[in-house]
Amino acid sequence: MFGKILIANRGEIALRIQRACRELGIKTVVVHSEADRDAKYVRLADESVCIGPAPSALSYLNVPAIISAAEVTDAEAIHPGYGFLSENADFAERVESSGFVFIGPRPETIRLMGDKVSAKEAMRAAGVPCVPGSEGALSEDAKEIALTAKTIGYPVIIKAAGGGGGRGMRVVHTEAALINAVAMTRTEAQNFFGNPNVYLEKFLENPRHIEIQVLADSFRNAVYLRERDCSMQRRHQKIIEEAPAPGIAARHIVRIGERCAEACRRINYRGAGTFEFLYENGDFYFIEMNTRIQVEHPVTEQITGIDLVVEQIRIAAGEKLRFRQRDLVFNGHAIECRINAEDPFTFVPSPGKISFYHPPGGPGIRVDSHIYQGYTIPSHYDSMVAKVIAYGDSREQAIRRMRTALSEMSIEGIKTNIPLHQELMHDARFMEGGTSIHYLAHRLAAKDEVNKGG
Ligand code: ADP
Repeated sequence: MFGKILIANRGEIALRIQRACRELGIKTVVVHSEADRDAKYVRLADESVCIGPAPSALSYLNVPAIISAAEVTDAEAIHPGYGFLSENADFAERVESSGFVFIGPRPETIRLMGDKVSAKEAMRAAGVPCVPGSEGALSEDAKEIALTAKTIGYPVIIKAAGGGGGRGMRVVHTEAALINAVAMTRTEAQNFFGNPNVYLEKFLENPRHIEIQVLADSFRNAVYLRERDCSMQRRHQKIIEEAPAPGIAARHIVRIGERCAEACRRINYRGAGTFEFLYENGDFYFIEMNTRIQVEHPVTEQITGIDLVVEQIRIAAGEKLRFRQRDLVFNGHAIECRINAEDPFTFVPSPGKISFYHPPGGPGIRVDSHIYQGYTIPSHYDSMVAKVIAYGDSREQAIRRMRTALSEMSIEGIKTNIPLHQELMHDARFMEGGTSIHYLAHRLAAKDEVNKGG
């Protein structure tokens, strides 16, 4: 096992990784920007290194500064968390060529999955069902593109091969709009992602977002840890996640989960990963793979009793998976609410000083957060400041515990989206379960209409 790990991230996940390291008896180095200098989790680490000013481009994305921090502190491995450099194949390569272990998949796997066209090809070859669409990237030939779209059937969605974060996508309903839209998406793709390749997919009108968590070691052993339902989203940002997915029969999950584990063996996947699917009318359609730990990993931990970050570290240290598929047991239901520092209804970010903080607790409640009374939330980064996870024997119990937790939780001095979560935990459609990825947007729009109408 490693003696010392460098954590190349910030906020709640930097603290979460520290906790896993401590459990394993590993020393920690946290790198931080000038804006995060005084954060408590930075002081909790065994060592910390300032790697640059507040803007991420100069600190959390500053590869040479991170590598030299690992060198001067004698760290053996680097955990990238999520976001920032976590899915950057060049970074993973730099880490390994500098003599450190990258806690994640091999650089070539990250590269394969980072390009959505090659990822889809690999998945199709491995027998994972994908959204019907073009074979690979689109050519420049307008006639051919029109024919492809017609064969798929409108509406179609144009997506950038290098896309991410919900950017580089455009829905097209008619042939008349197609060619122009392809050209526009291509230009954006080149500008944002440095890769002009785009491809076509059938646009699914009312899907749910269901994802499969996997763990794989360096010896081609792979398991799936069931599914998460992350359909409650706004502008492609998930805000509530749960496991298992309400209303989907376990045998459907087993079938798709086995395909995912098999795909991991085929591509020689290493570490934790997530296969993201759209789910509509009983069918799964692969959209992309995330080659890192995800924000919503705690709901899976709650229903499996497995610490995913600990397993990531063990796998990176060269250990074999400690369980086979048949050893895994899944119990109860877990729901996560992402608490963001933002206005609950206009979604305008609300950074600033927390004047009072009281986290919830009690049976089945877990809070993953780096905040505390007196902490100042910097304006430079993501607005998520805490995750509240409620676990229960049943979904109903998890919802009831979440309601209590949200009513206990108090964060003053800034605005948070707790009131939105409170509404959603009483929403009739959410309580039924199985809402689509468009549900939240429609609900917010309907509410706006009511407000405007007085
Ligand atoms: P990103 O990497 O930018 O997150 P994804 O491929 O994961 O891109 O897609 C993000 C979101 O876009 C999905 O969660 C879904 O809401 C929507 N989306 C993507 N592909 C389709 C599709 N074929 N049909 C309908 N919606 C889609």
